[in-house]
Amino acid sequence: MRTDQMQAWDTEVLVIGAGAAGVAAAVTAARRGLDVTLVESGSMPGGELLTGMAIDGALNGCGEWVVGGFATELLDECKRLGGYIGALNDWRLIHYVCYDPEIMKLAVANLLARHGVKLLLHTFAYDVEHEHGRVKAVHILNKQGRTRITAPLFIDASGDGDIAAMAGASYLSGENGQYQPLSLMFRLANVNTGDLLDFLAREPEHFALGESDAIRGGRSDQEIAQEVKKQGHPTVFLKGDGPLLARAIEAGELYPTALIMIQPTSTEKREVCLNTTRVANIDATRTSELSTVLEPLSKQIEICTNFMRKRVPGFEHAVLSGLAQRIGIRETRRIACDETLSQEDVLSARKRRDGIGKGSHHVDIHQDGIGQLRIPVEGGGSYDIPWGCLLPKGLDNLAVAGRCLSADRPAHGSVRVMGPCMAMGQAAATAASLLLAEQGRSAETGFRAMDIAQLRQALASDGAILEGTH
Ligand SMILES: Cc1cc2nc3c(=O)[nH]c(=O)nc-3n(C[C@H](O)[C@H](O)[C@H](O)COP(=O)(O)OP(=O)(O)OC[C@H]3O[C@@H](n4cnc5c(N)ncnc54)[C@H](O)[C@@H]3O)c2cc1C
Repeated sequence: MRTDQMQAWDTEVLVIGAGAAGVAAAVTAARRGLDVTLVESGSMPGGELLTGMAIDGALNGCGEWVVGGFATELLDECKRLGGYIGALNDWRLIHYVCYDPEIMKLAVANLLARHGVKLLLHTFAYDVEHEHGRVKAVHILNKQGRTRITAPLFIDASGDGDIAAMAGASYLSGENGQYQPLSLMFRLANVNTGDLLDFLAREPEHFALGESDAIRGGRSDQEIAQEVKKQGHPTVFLKGDGPLLARAIEAGELYPTALIMIQPTSTEKREVCLNTTRVANIDATRTSELSTVLEPLSKQIEICTNFMRKRVPGFEHAVLSGLAQRIGIRETRRIACDETLSQEDVLSARKRRDGIGKGSHHVDIHQDGIGQLRIPVEGGGSYDIPWGCLLPKGLDNLAVAGRCLSADRPAHGSVRVMGPCMAMGQAAATAASLLLAEQGRSAETGFRAMDIAQLRQALASDGAILEGTH
């Protein structure tokens, strides 16, 4: 490996990070005719889309789709490949979209290739050249050595806001040393869904049900349990303060956790994804600390698998069938931008003329031990994400998209999920294409010059959902 000589690479738009936001951005920009380079430090594009969890925030609590465009194209590709389960009601707070993460790997790869995105895997963006509020180049490192990538416009979809932070943007990170837990997602196969749903119907007290008026609709827990059964999919949430988990935690049979959330990943494989492991209050941008968490999270997977087999009907013969490819990070930097999405915006389902996408997930802040804050959006509705939340203060030609947008901590707890992340990626890339078409290669005025009405019109004509939902 040569690292002594810097190589050069030029592109029209550079997207850093191939998670939900970055893949949406790269595919959108390429489909709109730009030369796009997508840099990803991992071995596979897709980020958290590949871990087995459902896509939240693409439908609101009333069951209306609030994210379309790129997200629809991606889900259609999953459908074509036979890995789409569908939009399901969790009969707790949300409607989410379930799919097989192994098929999602193919779907993401297919879309990137189909649209001609130049993908650089195993490539870390480690430095930024910036001057007078403009990013001039991003430096990357991989086995071919170091490369200086120049572009008129950059999109930071790194989740952690690495590029914005390196370019001097200010940011907030967690709150007073508190960070949402790191988790390792895993999957169990050979699960008998019928037995699990019978258990729910018999003993609903162990499960979180009907936590918003929009979902409960005046039903009793027993009636809701029957609705889940009728839906026929394992969409259940064992709550940390319910008798089953509380007893197990008290007895030391289970680590302290707020949840064992179960979502289907494949009907044919009788497979589900479990969201339960946790180590809280680690700043995941401190790599040495992040890495120490693998051991306790792995141990928790072993403990939880044994617990499920012993205590939860339907899991007696379950086998461990998949692990997320990396430790999941819920919360790091929130980059300071022109606008900051607030808890009030989220909870009141605020609509705005400068909205470039929507979110609908509840304020969802996982905490240490059995703590989790869950506050539903009013009326099961959706809120608009203002364009300004993607524009880092003091930087002209860099937009952030995805988890690192500007939001207060409670609003971030809602908007961080994958539906809105895809909407933000599509919006940033659409703006890039419109600006380059108008101003040519120099794109001198940067993202801030974007006419929002024009951006909204282009997004809507590409299938994005900006109007007409609760
Ligand atoms: C345990 C857990 C459970 C969750 N549950 C759900 C759920 O059920 N439903 C839901 O919708 N959301 C859920 N979320 C939230 C959601 O998954 C993420 O917030 C969202 O996927 C973030 O998308 P993103 O594109 O911003 O970032 P990511 O998906 O994190 O993608 C960022 C990408 O950038 C790459 N990268 C980072 N830094 C660099 C760099 N310097 N150079 C090059 N590449 C870089 C990373 O490797 C990564 O692939 C959960 C999150 C976690 C951790």
